[in-house]
Parts: sequence; structure tokens; C-alpha cells
Amino acid sequence: MEVPTVIGLGLGFDGTSNWINKYLVDRYLFGLDEFRPEAYGIMRKFLVLWTFLTIFTFLLYFSLCPLVYYLLYTRRDAHGKNFASWDRKEGKDQVINEIKLSVFSIIVMAGMTAPFELLVEAGLTKIYWDLPTTALGWFYLTVGSPLMFLLFSDTCVYWIHRALHHRLLYAPIHKLHHKYKETTPFSSYAFHPLDGWLQGCPYHIFVFIFPMHHISYFCALAIVGLWTINIHDRTTYRIPFINGAAHHTIHHTGFTYNYGQYFVFWDIFGATFKDPYSCAPYSQESRAGKNGSRETKSC
Ligand SMILES: [Zn+2]
Ligand SMILES: [Zn+2]
Repeated sequence: MEVPTVIGLGLGFDGTSNWINKYLVDRYLFGLDEFRPEAYGIMRKFLVLWTFLTIFTFLLYFSLCPLVYYLLYTRRDAHGKNFASWDRKEGKDQVINEIKLSVFSIIVMAGMTAPFELLVEAGLTKIYWDLPTTALGWFYLTVGSPLMFLLFSDTCVYWIHRALHHRLLYAPIHKLHHKYKETTPFSSYAFHPLDGWLQGCPYHIFVFIFPMHHISYFCALAIVGLWTINIHDRTTYRIPFINGAAHHTIHHTGFTYNYGQYFVFWDIFGATFKDPYSCAPYSQESRAGKNGSRETKSC
């Protein structure tokens, strides 16, 4: 079978793994110049994908989280308060504990996710590599498939997340992510690996059901990684129907509200929606009380 890829360009998961195989593993590890992807065994492909997914996620986590932490948690405004309304009340070891758990989880989750990417490389999903030749094709690539990806994954993540709060799953799996009520950007990957993997499955299952261009798929997964960091930084714009950091903060303080990922629709239908702007630290009273949650009740 012809390898469906943009060999050497490093675009998409398949292109990047081929780039690693050709320019790093073959050339520097084995001293080979020719590129023979059909000769690579499954274990080699798996190890390359696992390594790539781990490094890719580490780059995202260790570049963006410290930056967001500095901008919103360390810096002070004119009143001497930080922008995230974070008052370190959950112990000075919170951040380091979150980083330790995230490093472990990212490595394990990348290993559990690599088989999905092996199936992508093998051409067993509905991912396509050629650019469209019709206006309808371009519409599907740029609008249709991203919208369907959002709706499909938002629906699945909502129900998986609700299931993870069931008493049989909460204590053994999801409780680890709820250790701290006041989240930081570093909380974004602080999961039990099975928890993070389960919530990540819809993104990969999508391409078994719906066609998606391979660059769109790569970008979608990168955006999911960014969004996960975004909803844990406690700082948000008030955008109608969007499940932002304020909503997810209330999920961490209230436990039974705001299970959504990008939108609030499923929380509204499922009667689990809580307006974060009625609770500390986002309510008017709380804001007037300066950075604290003591003037208004937490949800
Ligand atoms: Zn939860
Ligand atoms: Zn969370």
C-alpha cells in the first residue's frame, strides 16, 4: 500500500512520524539513507508515535503553562492581586504536585493514544490526505468537519465526564483530577492516565466515523490541548454558550455542575448548568470584595 503522507514535510501525525523515521531514526540511529516505511515493524512505528506524542504534549505543556502561570497567577495588578484570583490556599506544593502527575500521565496517555495513530497511518480511518477540488469539498474541510468534530466531541466528553463522576468511577479514576479546587494551568493534564485517555477517545473515534483532512485532525488535537489548558486557568472572557475557565472553575469547586468541554448546551439539557457569574470569584459582589471568594459563596 502506498504510504498516505506528505513525506518529509512533518505535517500531521503521519508526516511527522515519517519525518522522524527517515531523518532521525534511519539516518542517525541506523545510518541508513533510504526511506523504506513498508519495512518498519509495528513496534518501531508504535515507539516513534509514542515518543512523538509525548514530546509534542510536553512542548505544549511546558511552554504554555509556565507562560499562563506567570501572566495570570504570578503577576499582580494595580491592587496587588493576581489576575486569576488565586490565593494559594491549597498548599504551596500544589503546582509541583500537578506537574509530577501531569508528566507521568502524559507519558502513559501518549502510549495509550499511539495505537489510534497507528490506525491512522495504516489508512484504516476516514482521514484523507488530498486537498479538495470542489467548493463543497472546501466547505466540508474548513467548516463542516471542524463543526462536526466540536459537536461530536463535546457531546461525548460531557457524558464520559458525567460517568466519571459516578461513585463507581469517581474515587478510583477521576478524583485525582479534583484534588485541588483552585486550578492552575498545570492542572490541565493532572489526571489519572485512564481518565485523560477516556476523555480523549472521542477525538480519535471521530475519524473512524467522519471524514477529516489529516492536517485538520492534527490541528484539532493541538487545539484540544490548548483548550484544556485554557479552561484550567480560572480567567475567562464572558462568551455566550461557551464553557470557559469560569465554568470549569465552578466544576472544580461545585463538583456536580458544568461537565462540558467547549459549550454549555449539554449542561443546560442535562440540568447540570451553573452560571459561574453568580458564584465566587466571578460574581459582582466577589469582584467588588477584591480577589476573594469570602464575600460571595462559592458554588
Ligand atoms: Zn470532573
Ligand atoms: Zn479540570
